[in-house]
Amino acid sequence: MPVETFIEVRNPATGAVTGQVPAATADEVAAKVAELRLYQAEWEAIGAEGRKRWLLTLQDWLIDNTDRIADIVQSETGKPRVDALIDASFAVDLLGYYARRAGGFLADEHPSPHSPLARVKRLTTVYRPYPVVGVITPWNFPLAMPALDVVPALAAGAAVLLKPSEVTPLSALELARGWAEIGAPPVFAVLTGAAETGAAVVDSVDYVQFTGSTRTGRAIATACARRLLPYSLELGGKDPAIVLADADLDRAAYGIAFGGLFNAGQVCISVERVYVEAPVYDEFVAKLTAHVRELRQGADGRESRYDVGALANEAQRRIVSDHVEDALAKGARALTGGRSTEVGTFYEPTVLVDVDHGMSCMTEETFGPTLPVMKVADETEAVALANDSIYGLSASVWTGDRARGERIARQLNAGAVNINDVFANLFSFALPMGGWQQSGIGARWGGAAGVRKYCRQQAITTPILPTQRKELFWFPYNTTKLALAMAAMRAAGARGLRRIGVRDVFDTVGGKGK
Ligand code: ADP
Repeated sequence: MPVETFIEVRNPATGAVTGQVPAATADEVAAKVAELRLYQAEWEAIGAEGRKRWLLTLQDWLIDNTDRIADIVQSETGKPRVDALIDASFAVDLLGYYARRAGGFLADEHPSPHSPLARVKRLTTVYRPYPVVGVITPWNFPLAMPALDVVPALAAGAAVLLKPSEVTPLSALELARGWAEIGAPPVFAVLTGAAETGAAVVDSVDYVQFTGSTRTGRAIATACARRLLPYSLELGGKDPAIVLADADLDRAAYGIAFGGLFNAGQVCISVERVYVEAPVYDEFVAKLTAHVRELRQGADGRESRYDVGALANEAQRRIVSDHVEDALAKGARALTGGRSTEVGTFYEPTVLVDVDHGMSCMTEETFGPTLPVMKVADETEAVALANDSIYGLSASVWTGDRARGERIARQLNAGAVNINDVFANLFSFALPMGGWQQSGIGARWGGAAGVRKYCRQQAITTPILPTQRKELFWFPYNTTKLALAMAAMRAAGARGLRRIGVRDVFDTVGGKGK
């Protein structure tokens, strides 16, 4: 028998060991997928109404367990209490949306035939789930991130195998505990482990939903291609904020500080770089720096005392530190922050100025509490710099003129643009959340698309009129029949005189050409 390996889970704020989980082997993953496959047919068969009941019961369970879950989230992330409470609340919101709406989103559609000739059929598009969806998630929101993808997949009628990050597996296991405690059908399972377990998931499931680094996303896409598996990837980002001279600078400073430093900057759509029009640059930087200096950083307990917590692990702290050191060495200045606190994995909330695109802090994903701010001449330069990136997840535009904001949004290469706000798209499940360029492929949510992505579309044609023994086109071939059919197709779909070119048709099928 293979020796079971375990992964130790630590609280990065203190270094204390808070748990230990097994690393599932490839065989265990394959066996679990086979088991999920057995139960999925019944899950699909109970329909969206039947699934709604279980999903709303899970929602009740999450509400009842929010405090306890926040303890677990904190224990493996070192987040402030408020950040930790958001995880379960976010999942609750999403559960309500997809549990109630999946039935409508997945209802059969009867599109109009494209031509009068096709009106003899009733056309139906049916949404049938992939049997087993594999969800692979990162560590930044250890319960919410899994829930955001697991819930729509379950609502679609798929069975789901979740492989959470090895850095934060404990919260995801709570989701599985909830599913079991409410007595729901065994169509959702969590297997813990690191990259090898994740790769085994990709080798066994029918659809892969991944959130994480661009590097791993590329490896998963390659593995999916080998199996011809469909997938959806949400990857890295380097989200710009553009502050225009007509903006409300107080709101911009508060909003950008929150957008860059919420969850210690460990949010896929956090503000990672700021471009400010020259006339308001000094004033904006002064306001931003003053606000960031006020933030309280530390290790929360159950009482909310801090705004900014620890980074997820030492590797993450090192990336942040490297980006800041690189910038300082190349001439940037830290107006506040700019160093580790020497406690746990904390890194001080940091505002950098005199930065440019020759520095990693402006081009590579930092995923930490840094706000590099660059002065630009005008809107055109801001847009050009914002688009000077391999990524394209989201962006924000700060302006007193909403029409101008929307106009600029349409020039940005980003999957989402929030005007005078941050994260707003994240709380709008009716909108698609997807990355452009190296920030991803596909999207999550987007109303109906959020559940339909987990489905295969099936086309069904049903005769409307009584059927004859034979259709016109069936054997044996006969050029007169064919000519009639072609004439009818042209009459229905061609334009101008070609529509009535019956003689041409007879010539063509008679082999004479024109
Ligand atoms: P990060 O560690 O920065 O969150 P990763 O992209 O490395 O980002 O990891 C995200 C998730 O992908 C984690 O759950 C991790 O275990 C998983 N993972 C890493 N490598 C692979 C791989 N080759 N195949 C499948 N999953 C993987």
